Amino acid sequence: GASSMGGMGAGDADSAASAAGDEAAAAEVAANVDHVLVGLLYIARVLVQCGARLRVLAINEAINLHYVAFRECIMPRRDSNCGKCQSVASRRAAFGLVHELAVLFPQFLIRLVQRHYLTVLDENGSTWEFGYDPIQDSRAAVGYVGLYNPGCVCYGNSVLQQLFMTPRFRRAVLDAVDPAKDPRESVLFQLQSLFGWLQESERKCKDPRPFFAAFKDLDGNPTNVRVQQDADEFLSLLLDRIETAVKGLPQEAAITRTFAGKVVNKITGEKCGHVSDNQEPFQVLSVAINGHASLEEALSAHTAGEPLRGDNAYACGTCGHKVDAIKRLCIRELPPTLIVHLKRFEFDYETMLKRKLNSRCSFPEFLDLKPYMEATLAPETASDEAKAAAAAASHYRLVGVVVHTGTTEMGHYYSFIREDRAGGPTRGGAARGDAAAVEDVGRTGAMSRWLEFNDKTVRPFRFERLEAECFGGEDVTWVYDEATRQFVSRVTEKARSAYMLVYERETRR
Ligand SMILES: [Zn+2]
Repeated sequence: GASSMGGMGAGDADSAASAAGDEAAAAEVAANVDHVLVGLLYIARVLVQCGARLRVLAINEAINLHYVAFRECIMPRRDSNCGKCQSVASRRAAFGLVHELAVLFPQFLIRLVQRHYLTVLDENGSTWEFGYDPIQDSRAAVGYVGLYNPGCVCYGNSVLQQLFMTPRFRRAVLDAVDPAKDPRESVLFQLQSLFGWLQESERKCKDPRPFFAAFKDLDGNPTNVRVQQDADEFLSLLLDRIETAVKGLPQEAAITRTFAGKVVNKITGEKCGHVSDNQEPFQVLSVAINGHASLEEALSAHTAGEPLRGDNAYACGTCGHKVDAIKRLCIRELPPTLIVHLKRFEFDYETMLKRKLNSRCSFPEFLDLKPYMEATLAPETASDEAKAAAAAASHYRLVGVVVHTGTTEMGHYYSFIREDRAGGPTRGGAARGDAAAVEDVGRTGAMSRWLEFNDKTVRPFRFERLEAECFGGEDVTWVYDEATRQFVSRVTEKARSAYMLVYERETRR
């Protein structure tokens, strides 16, 4: 029942699925036979047979063993971790052990049925269904845990996964000791708890409701999970609150500096050369994309500068009168992880409505931000530090995209995220697959996997699909026209496009 509410616009989201990715995931599941567990269960069964024959197996030991085989291996409580058995082979072995015990100790069969089997029905109600498959209920084959969507919190889920997948930020958040008195009301504690689940759980997904209960809206009430919100506004608010919560902690710098950069508004007198310098910190770089076909073009326009002349001339404090000047915004300092917000939602003053721009805006995998920095745009007034910073660290690589699909009123968010990240492995401890492969995640080089995090679903994403899934623009579809009895092409605007981009500083060049 509840699972059908897992997300809005599931049809749109499915269009992002890649058949090849699903096949790869299925193959990974098929290969995942828990051989060691199967072996242990068969050994236990043989020992039980021998023990009973030699009359050295006590009845209470048999009951304990039965409990382990049934409750820990086959059907765990709904609120505990997954059953140990993750394959047909191991479930068969566990049922074999249960059967052996029932045959050897028939006097306890009724008690076992009452104590274990009937309670399974009680505690789970109708949510267990015939054809129950633990694989459907456990961590995705790709090794990551999704986030359940109890209504319309896909804006939060997609952003939370981006934060979780930033190793430097995740580690610092998990290392912090939360000073708050009431963990239920602490955003920091709830974020830690959520990250802990995403990293260690064997479940398919985590329910984020405790987090949203602690994350208050602007009126101080728990976030209403049935109301859709803007992903960019959510992220900015969350980072602000985390910044406040970690004040004075040893992890403060690591947490607050991960995404923090500085822009500067410079007004330079054209003749006198006097400079007014107004610095502003940012956590998210918002860029207007209306009328721009690419991120680079939008950034150029963003930092192009405008002349202040005539009535608009600048009152220079040093000269004491109005002078012709150039006003220019430049990037002064870049963070290790740069989040760019593409302004696709605009307020239309003619209709007095918010509208979404579906126009095409491309963005590169490798982005050099040097052309938009103070050291390049205003070298005569930039400090030596600013010049050194620009020269050393302006090369970035795309590592994440938050996609919005739909309209301003009705939409859905999901994330694409690169697995190979600076600052350590992104996979959690409970990832299936061998430990060596997990260790190697941070060093796989250029051929890193990309994954789609779509509420509770996590699956591979083919990076070649980036343009089709994220740039926006037009879609050509072929439809059958009844009147002319021909297929005709129809050009429509794509409803899905990138809304936020995550770039990581390149350290391996
Ligand atoms: Zn002046």
